[in-house]
Amino acid sequence: MLALNHTLVGAAIGSQIDNIPAVIGLAVVSHFVLDFLPHVDQGSEFSREELKPTFKYFLAAIDIFASFLIIILILMARPGLNSIPVITGAITGLLIDLIFNVPFWESWVKKVRPLSYIYYFHNKIQEPLKKYQYSIGIPLQLIIIFTSIWFLIK
Ligand SMILES: [Zn+2]
Repeated sequence: MLALNHTLVGAAIGSQIDNIPAVIGLAVVSHFVLDFLPHVDQGSEFSREELKPTFKYFLAAIDIFASFLIIILILMARPGLNSIPVITGAITGLLIDLIFNVPFWESWVKKVRPLSYIYYFHNKIQEPLKKYQYSIGIPLQLIIIFTSIWFLIK
């Protein structure tokens, strides 16, 4: 799923809970739950083809940059929010993709146990509901984005 979804859900979790270990645990669990849901992201197949790797990573960089920019803007606009759990939730919500989807060390984590098990689990959970990526996925991703922002600014 988009970094925007992962970071906003993690940030929303951090906005509701002050306990850092709990924020980290829930944000990591939220990553797998979100990836299981139907979704469209840089790794999706568009008209039966994946995007070219360089373009895919360029979009991912914009996605990550925009995600943290939005969260920083929300934190600036809402000084009452506790920024440490919010930022912790945002980073750990995305952490699984940073560990398993970055080309520099992807081939290494694929091979080293127990990381390799998580790598394959992370890939497998994205498959079952893939056929609903457009019909359910896109509206669902928008709902997740707006609900998370609502939790952060309410
Ligand atoms: Zn993921």
